[in-house]
Amino acid sequence: MIMNLMLKQWTIDDKAELMALCNAVDRTYLSDRLPYPYSDANADWWLEMVQMNEGKLGIFRAIVVGRRIVGSISVECNGKNNGKGEIGYMLLTDYWSMGIATESVSQICKIAFNKLSIDRIVAKVYELNVASVRVLEKNGFVYDRVLEEKKLKDEEQSNLLLYNLQSHGVTTDNNQVVKRSDPPALTNVLIAGPCSVESEDQILATAQALAKIPEVKMLRGGIWKPRTRPNAFEGRGEQGLVWLREAKHETGLPIITEVATPEHVELALKYDIDALWIGARTVVNPFSVQQLADALRGVDIPMFIKNPVSPDLNLWVGAFERFKKAGMKQLAAIHRGFAYYKETPYRNFPMWEIPIELTQRLNVTLLTDVSHICGNRELLQATAQKALDLATDGLMIECHIDPDSALTDAKQQITPEALKQLLASLTFRSKQSGNAERDLAGLRGEIDDIDSELLQLLARRMEVSAQIGEYKKHNNVAVVQMDRWKKILAEHVSTGIDLGLSPLLINKVFDAIHQASIERQGRIMENDNE
Ligand code: PEP
Ligand code: MN
Repeated sequence: MIMNLMLKQWTIDDKAELMALCNAVDRTYLSDRLPYPYSDANADWWLEMVQMNEGKLGIFRAIVVGRRIVGSISVECNGKNNGKGEIGYMLLTDYWSMGIATESVSQICKIAFNKLSIDRIVAKVYELNVASVRVLEKNGFVYDRVLEEKKLKDEEQSNLLLYNLQSHGVTTDNNQVVKRSDPPALTNVLIAGPCSVESEDQILATAQALAKIPEVKMLRGGIWKPRTRPNAFEGRGEQGLVWLREAKHETGLPIITEVATPEHVELALKYDIDALWIGARTVVNPFSVQQLADALRGVDIPMFIKNPVSPDLNLWVGAFERFKKAGMKQLAAIHRGFAYYKETPYRNFPMWEIPIELTQRLNVTLLTDVSHICGNRELLQATAQKALDLATDGLMIECHIDPDSALTDAKQQITPEALKQLLASLTFRSKQSGNAERDLAGLRGEIDDIDSELLQLLARRMEVSAQIGEYKKHNNVAVVQMDRWKKILAEHVSTGIDLGLSPLLINKVFDAIHQASIERQGRIMENDNE
């Protein structure tokens, strides 16, 4: 974190500090425009020019660290109304390599895009000035061309390069899409982080602990939380983005958050979010998905699309199609389980066959959000292993520095330490396995789901049977009523035949079930006699 970095507007009181700065700054890569020595009159002229033009022909700021002015940064436009501004900055040598320039460039570009009528900021930088080239690239500036070869102050030759930054979502003159710097790769991703960004301390402590786990490739944090009921914590909004970006700068982890509206998209891009996801409650609504696709038209940012809450494969596929049509290329899927018509041990029933079919239809990277599938910590390990066995490309796991105190999804979040142990317990399958194995895994997953449903149904049947037993006991009715059972079995056999099942199978299965039922009811009667 950069302690106390601030961009402040220049005032006439800053004259002495301005002169000190301009006389002390390293001039190797500065333009000839800055006089040397920098006199009292130079400072007067410049401060007056700044007062007159601020917000009209430029944005001019002092870079302040602690209470000291350590640099100057500006974006100036020439008033020709060509939508273009030019950035320039200088920073005292003692303050290099601390991320100050990167952060200052980030802040001033945002102010400039907001306040000046420009949609592009250009930068001229010497090729030899690698630190500044990196600062620009980290802020999303894209190399354009060599402007000229110039002699530097120490007589060395260097190319003067032109870099461009488009305001987000706008395409360049020749219709190239906007390129963001260092997009995280979509495969082999482990995304970890809290369900919600709650406070500066919470996100920084969580991020720092996660950054020490090599498998963690991206930091998640919910900023706007879709809640089932009103009056619950709905996320920190823009303030949360400030903290999340700070966590990125502190740890170097790329950051990802959920967006549900075009306003969320705009803010997320403003705060340098590296990747976005769309939540299960948004994907169910094609209007919302289309609005997001329109807001992201031409923005080259990785986008993870969660499955819709309802088990509707076409709705999920449709979301991919909408973003593809909007020109988005880095699309991946996140499987987070589905709402189910009855209770299961999971918060959201996995129905593994659906995500597997999605990857077969669309050939996209698939991540598994085990936290939202499980809804608790106990099932995480087995579910993550299952996901890996089914050849998922990555995992999303909710982690919180103090899960029990989490404002959302407390039951399913784990500490970074627990994540480390979880990862150590998992067997990562070789990705060499071919499609056949993956297809087979899908079918096996389907069988597992069906078996699990059969088990739940059997358990429920036994439960109801026990209630009947209690009733019979209190009303002195015989346990076995053979006539009723024979009639039911005949009906089952006939229905089974209609469904293509053999009468032998129906007889065997229902005989066994009936037998177990009778035994259970018999035990209930016996207990009464004790
Ligand atoms: C989340 O990831 O915190 C979230 C709200 O997820 P989902 O959309 O899957 O419920
Ligand atoms: Mn959550």
